[in-house]
Amino acid sequence: MSNYQAPLRDMRFVIHELVESHKICALPGYADCDADLIDAVLEEASRFAGDILSPLNPVGDRDGARWLAGADGKGEVRTAAGFADAYKQFAEGGWMALPCPPDHGGQGLPRLLAVAVSEMWKSANLSFSHVITLTHGAIEALMIAGSTELKDTWLPKLVSGEWTGTMNITEPQAGSDLAAIACRAVPQPDGSFRISGQKIFITYGDHDMAANIVHLVLARTPDAPTGTKGISLFIVPKFLVNDDGTLGERNDVHVVSVEHKMGIRASPTCVLAYGDNSDGAIGYLIGEENAGMRYMFTMMNNARLGVGLEGLGLGERSYQQALAYAKERKQGYAPGAARGEKSAIIEHPDVRRQLLTMKAYTESMRALCYKVAEQIDVGRHGPDEATRTAAQEMADLLIPLTKSYCTDVAETVTSIGIQVHGGMGFIEETGAAQHYRDAKITQIYEGTNGIQAMDLVGRKLPMRAGGVYQDQLARMRATAADLAAGDERLAPIARELGAALDALEDATGWVLTEGLADPVQALSAATPYQRLFATTAAGWLMGQQALAAVASIDAGAADADVAATKLVTARFFAEHLLPQVHGLVAPVKAGKTDLFALTADQL
Ligand SMILES: Cc1cc2nc3c(=O)[nH]c(=O)nc-3n(C[C@H](O)[C@H](O)[C@H](O)COP(=O)(O)OP(=O)(O)OC[C@H]3O[C@@H](n4cnc5c(N)ncnc54)[C@H](O)[C@@H]3O)c2cc1C
Repeated sequence: MSNYQAPLRDMRFVIHELVESHKICALPGYADCDADLIDAVLEEASRFAGDILSPLNPVGDRDGARWLAGADGKGEVRTAAGFADAYKQFAEGGWMALPCPPDHGGQGLPRLLAVAVSEMWKSANLSFSHVITLTHGAIEALMIAGSTELKDTWLPKLVSGEWTGTMNITEPQAGSDLAAIACRAVPQPDGSFRISGQKIFITYGDHDMAANIVHLVLARTPDAPTGTKGISLFIVPKFLVNDDGTLGERNDVHVVSVEHKMGIRASPTCVLAYGDNSDGAIGYLIGEENAGMRYMFTMMNNARLGVGLEGLGLGERSYQQALAYAKERKQGYAPGAARGEKSAIIEHPDVRRQLLTMKAYTESMRALCYKVAEQIDVGRHGPDEATRTAAQEMADLLIPLTKSYCTDVAETVTSIGIQVHGGMGFIEETGAAQHYRDAKITQIYEGTNGIQAMDLVGRKLPMRAGGVYQDQLARMRATAADLAAGDERLAPIARELGAALDALEDATGWVLTEGLADPVQALSAATPYQRLFATTAAGWLMGQQALAAVASIDAGAADADVAATKLVTARFFAEHLLPQVHGLVAPVKAGKTDLFALTADQL
């Protein structure tokens, strides 16, 4: 089993050459950031990820998080051996604070850098990384809508990592359908609320790594409108906090059970009962009543980008492991090899194809995730309203593409990772299977990929009457033109990207025309359309990297090897992976006909 090593050279290439970090560091609010700082933080994070988190990944998979039932029926969760200590080091190292606002103890560094660092946590130990992602989600919710009092009480200890956060959305009858949320919140004379009901699937809903857990809970007040318009957002802590900031009484929120799962076994997935032993757990309203969904939507870009990063992280980890194995394992003779010592399997053409597929997919995921992070930074810190709006629109359009692409591709990449190992890949001891098992959930949570596809065709394509899509198309066409103006090194990439863009335009035309006439057509086509669009967008960013690579090579840049490697990977992506989009046009246009040709009983 190989240990994780952060792919620093590729990360730096994407950060400095594709995204052009100097432009992000020049944004108002990021004055302390420059290329040297970025590189230093990446180095330091790579050590923590490789030395501390990565060795715990198989331990967590084997031992999992355990629920210890208490005598009173109120259990608690024990994380796998080593997790609590690693978390202590993580918080003491200041890592939680990296992307957080400076006025509450954060370091205020760009989202771009936070995303690169987060990729490392996710590669090294996906289960561990969840506690970070959820805490950042809670911090963001408070930043968006919390009162000064709430911010002052909860933010400093969340930012320092002393306390952690959760996101409580799902209930037994309310999964994708958030309108069905039923947890109740009853106002009290002192301004607080009493929360009751059950939440399921709550990640890090209980654990032994921090002194307090700050649950963010969606619930309904007594006279709230039905549906999503009547949902409010509350803070419900595990321990109440006294006026002097010390921890007070235990609140009436208890873990009822912990799920046994296919993957991410060290990440506790809890059923939480609110108010079972009283007239409700004590909670505090965040922002306005009935505005909970609005706040959730604002947070969603970051949360969905975070899950896209999980796909990227797992793809990278799986690739590293397969590559190491392919260099060691000897079988047969590769074509042209001298008889004598057998060839390492990396010399066989089919294994080469598999490894390059893993590498090219992984690099395309990285490009997409970092590009979205760049747009989120510009959307928040851009110098003027028009720049900020354009960046926010681009991020909004790319989010469902990034979440679905990275997680679908992660399933493919981690499956190939097993394949490269042959039979040993199927044996748990090698660790290759863990990445595949861990990857599956990323296609499901934070809005299944089917829900992402509905978001794409139903909400994102119609943005500004199709103007946001047109702007994106123009950007991708401009890159194709730049590639076409280059020399023969770029010609195959220009050709394939141009053809993919033609396919995208063709499919988009069908979705918009048919979808206007009959939404069922658009919804039936949504998933193949999403894959077509996302693969094309990935091809666009691989093309941009090829342009940057050629510029670096021609300028005699110091790390010419990275640029030369990138050029080959981009060409492989263009010639071997991007053409898949042509096979998706027909499924898009096939629409609903066959889907509803059988009754439910005939299926
Ligand atoms: C390990 C794990 C961790 C989780 N962590 C959290 C957490 O921390 N906090 C939290 O609140 N939740 C969490 N969840 C819940 C997760 O977000 C939901 O499981 C997910 O949103 C899907 O909801 P569901 O499971 O009820 O599936 P359902 O909504 O029942 O969906 C079943 C299938 O139907 C499809 N479907 C549903 N509705 C539609 C529709 N309108 N159109 C087309 N297709 C549709 C879905 O795509 C899916 O394929 C977690 C879940 C798991 C398994």
